Amino acid sequence: MGMSRDDALALVSLIAESENLPLPRFRLSPRQGHARNTSISVPRWAFAKHEAFAMYYVCHEMAHLVERKNGISSFHHGDHFKSTEQRICLKFGVTIKGYKNNGPYPRVDQVAY
Ligand SMILES: [Zn+2]
Repeated sequence: MGMSRDDALALVSLIAESENLPLPRFRLSPRQGHARNTSISVPRWAFAKHEAFAMYYVCHEMAHLVERKNGISSFHHGDHFKSTEQRICLKFGVTIKGYKNNGPYPRVDQVAY
């Protein structure tokens, strides 16, 4: 297990506070993560990877809430989203080294402390 639920809740809370977002509810989901107005979820499989990757996934979903607050479509995974995601990740010591096929998600081995 890369990360405990309590650690994830603490990270969600820290990100919300530093980005001036209302605290969303947090849950683990079976397959895909999501970010809605008042909740985010992270898939269980991501939590089973190493801790940096689990943290990355929390940052990814929180980045959607930041983008939405700024009026940017939450389903957009473009350069603006990626810069927000990377900024949040870096605050917590997580580095994204690249994105798989230039898509929205890095491979597990592209995320590290
Ligand atoms: Zn996304």
